[in-house]
Amino acid sequence: MTGGRKIEFATVDWEAGAPRSIFFDDIYFSGDGAGETRHVFLDGNDLEARFAGAPRFTVGEVGFGSGLNVLSALSLWRRVRPANARLEILSFEKFPLHPDDFRRAALAWPQFAEDCAAVAGGYPPPIRGFHRLDLGGGANLTLAFGDAGDLLPLAEARVDAWFLDGFAPAKNPDLWTAAIFAEIARLSAPGATAATFTVAGAVRRGLAGAGFTIEKCAGYGRKREMLRAFLRPSPGSAGEEKRKSHSQMSRRAPWHPASQDAPLAPGAHVAIIGGGVAGAATANAAALAGLNATIIDPAGIAQGASGNPAGLLMPRLDIGAGAPSRFFIAAYLHALGTIARLEARGARLFNPCGVLAPALTGEDAQWAEKALAAELLPSNYIEARGSALFFPQAGVVDPPAFCAALAEGAALVRARAVRIETRAESALIRLDDGRALEAGAVVIANGAQALNFVQARTLPLTRIAGQIDRFADAPGLALAHAFGPYAAPAPDGGAVIGATYAALAAGEAPRPSLDATRANIAAVARALPDFAAVLEPLRAAPRASVRCQTPDRLPLVGPAPDFDAYGAQFDDLRFGKAREYAQGRLVPRLYFLTGLGSRGLVTAPLCAAMIVAEMTGAPAPVERPVAEALHPARFFVRDLKRAVARRVK
Ligand SMILES: Cc1cc2nc3c(=O)[nH]c(=O)nc-3n(C[C@H](O)[C@H](O)[C@H](O)COP(=O)(O)OP(=O)(O)OC[C@H]3O[C@@H](n4cnc5c(N)ncnc54)[C@H](O)[C@@H]3O)c2cc1C
Repeated sequence: MTGGRKIEFATVDWEAGAPRSIFFDDIYFSGDGAGETRHVFLDGNDLEARFAGAPRFTVGEVGFGSGLNVLSALSLWRRVRPANARLEILSFEKFPLHPDDFRRAALAWPQFAEDCAAVAGGYPPPIRGFHRLDLGGGANLTLAFGDAGDLLPLAEARVDAWFLDGFAPAKNPDLWTAAIFAEIARLSAPGATAATFTVAGAVRRGLAGAGFTIEKCAGYGRKREMLRAFLRPSPGSAGEEKRKSHSQMSRRAPWHPASQDAPLAPGAHVAIIGGGVAGAATANAAALAGLNATIIDPAGIAQGASGNPAGLLMPRLDIGAGAPSRFFIAAYLHALGTIARLEARGARLFNPCGVLAPALTGEDAQWAEKALAAELLPSNYIEARGSALFFPQAGVVDPPAFCAALAEGAALVRARAVRIETRAESALIRLDDGRALEAGAVVIANGAQALNFVQARTLPLTRIAGQIDRFADAPGLALAHAFGPYAAPAPDGGAVIGATYAALAAGEAPRPSLDATRANIAAVARALPDFAAVLEPLRAAPRASVRCQTPDRLPLVGPAPDFDAYGAQFDDLRFGKAREYAQGRLVPRLYFLTGLGSRGLVTAPLCAAMIVAEMTGAPAPVERPVAEALHPARFFVRDLKRAVARRVK
């Protein structure tokens, strides 16, 4: 995969209210389509009975097309689902319909109007990768935009039923290859089924070759036949298959394994240590997955770094197609979607004023040109304003309001977690007031204080103090300005400027200072001299707090490695990868979400979604290389590879 992340929307003709792909010269559906969908994909996978008996179910689809299959499956699931059940849908589409075309096509199915509005409301921009939408009532849709041949190998999921609905093999042979079927089998849960409208030889051979038993049955309407397929159990694994976790289906390096825990059932309890944006976002993602979350924090919600009066929500642009670039773009889009969802429920936490990134030097201007040319974002998300970049969708978030909205519904325990004891099926969190909490999973989300837990003591987290200053009587800013330092309209009037960076010694508390206020004013004066000139240092309301930073400036997200076991398992990595390694051993039931650095307001929601997907077996919201780039074992393994002796005892 090269270059920008932008993809093209499908170009379609309209024939009698139905879209037709110009590129593939094929129709999206015939008639009103709903009858055929029901016959081929819903009945073909026996979904009515299976939905009715499953607390969690994952549908995979190759060819989102008009969205009809997804809408039909949702409608059926909502009718027959058991109480508190969860539905995940992972659907791949190379040329998504433009959202207007999606809405127009869906006019043919007024019975799906509500879900159609939910999909349209969260419809992702045309950016390659995985986009996660909350459809309400326990259903989530992960739309994978881009070539399925590229994206299937990057996906992590455990799919129970597949809809194979690409354009016909004669018109789109690339979607029906042995490589695609092998990926479909890899991503299939034990007992998975598949259904498709075509009985073409390549499809039958492909499915059979990938481990499915195939069966022809009566097609819909005038079509004589269709195919159903059943994944054959892999030999010798019958007993274990039911518990197949993400890890076993993964293509990851052995030292970056996904969770090895059995997926948590809806209603299971998750304990989250830390009430900042990391913890609050985890509580929100857990709630969407049907889990019960408890946040443990002696200070309450949003009292650490996440308690600043304002923060910028803007993309970090990394030119190139590497994992950091993909992560920051995906995180930004996910954060915007999360904010829209929370605001739709009444929260007021975001000022979408736009953020201007002025170019202060010739080098800045050249970089801005390159960033625009790289097409990392669609044109309505980034534009040139002279030599500056402007991000129209970006803005200023009210961090305490954001955290409060994210944490809504979670229980709060005001105590300090002092020790975590893990077992195969659960974990016990000991609190400083003598109490203990039991949970199906624990997330360490307390910034650099994670280092106080024995399981996290080798993580390379550093504490960087930072101060921002609020001026209640500052001249109004119509938009936010960011150029390293930033100046932004504050949520409750006036302006906020920031931020300083200063390393903190272990145990040292951050303290606001007049010097730091002066430094912030001087920094802002570089781009906004008139604005800065009227800021009076003594009228500032300063706030200092601590960023938790990693050496590569990426968060630390994922299951907790058992670092003692890692030392033994991977010790000979220092001599180069000489052999096949077994998967790294993980601490059961324990996850990390820390190291959010100076971007936590943007990145926490996606990081939280990643962790909860691992806990529950839901489709990962990011591409596999992103999960590996953020994996908590990365520094330990890198150091082993560099032959750095690390004490693990
Ligand atoms: C000056 C400054 C400006 C910033 N500006 C921006 C910005 O504009 N945009 C942006 O995206 N990001 C910004 N950031 C970064 C962002 O604020 C952080 O990345 C984010 O708030 C980190 O969230 P967190 O939940 O990991 O940590 P925190 O918000 O610090 O929360 C950690 C919590 O853990 C609790 N805790 C600690 N130990 C325990 C324990 N043992 N048991 C229970 N609880 C415990 C603490 O009480 C605390 O409440 C800024 C940061 C700073 C410092």
